[in-house]
Amino acid sequence: MIDTHAHLSSRFRDEIKIDGLEYVILAASCVQDSKDNLELAKDNKKLLPAVGIHPQESDEDVEKLEELITDKVVAVGECGLEFMDNYNRESQEKCFRKQIELAQKYKLPLIVHARKAVDEAVEILKEYKNINGVFHCYAGGIKRIKKINDLDFYFGIDGNLTYEIGLEEVVKNIPKDRLILETDSPFLTPVPFRGEKNCSENVRYVYQKVAEIWQMSFEETEKIIDRNAKNLFKIV
Ligand SMILES: [Zn+2]
Repeated sequence: MIDTHAHLSSRFRDEIKIDGLEYVILAASCVQDSKDNLELAKDNKKLLPAVGIHPQESDEDVEKLEELITDKVVAVGECGLEFMDNYNRESQEKCFRKQIELAQKYKLPLIVHARKAVDEAVEILKEYKNINGVFHCYAGGIKRIKKINDLDFYFGIDGNLTYEIGLEEVVKNIPKDRLILETDSPFLTPVPFRGEKNCSENVRYVYQKVAEIWQMSFEETEKIIDRNAKNLFKIV
């Protein structure tokens, strides 16, 4: 099992729970998180760092991310658009584009965060060539699956699959070779631990749910999902 999206930097974690997991991709929301991720990855080969700036932090400087990129870094993100509350579209878009260009330059996949902004994120990504990545915590419904697939991007699905009405149908419609799983720890805790802080080990319940939806064994499901994650993040 691979948790392809967890926040384990110091401001989010109490402890690191990764028993039974092959890898955990460390998503970053700001420059400090990105630095923390690199530090964490030094001590643990299972932890694979990303560097990125979340749309809510879009006033931060993307140039500082570039200084952090080493051959250990597996992705740029999470970055993207979030059109909620008093958002500044212009600064979000600028920060997103700079990170797309960074990913392009270093041939890294993008971890895209698109909230109430999936169509807008797709339109921006379409302008670029030779990029790929994942729509993390995919929330575009059945009707946007084709668009994302045409972009050659993957779909990241989280613990809300275990309780959110309608998400099961979405997963049924995602091509099997395009699905990866994540926890977004410490958020989005799956059933049976809803209400508690989430941890990477709980990704097991998301795998379990996908196995049920696919009507396959846990092992077969795991094999397919993990192969997808390794393809996207070039884990050998
Ligand atoms: Zn996240």
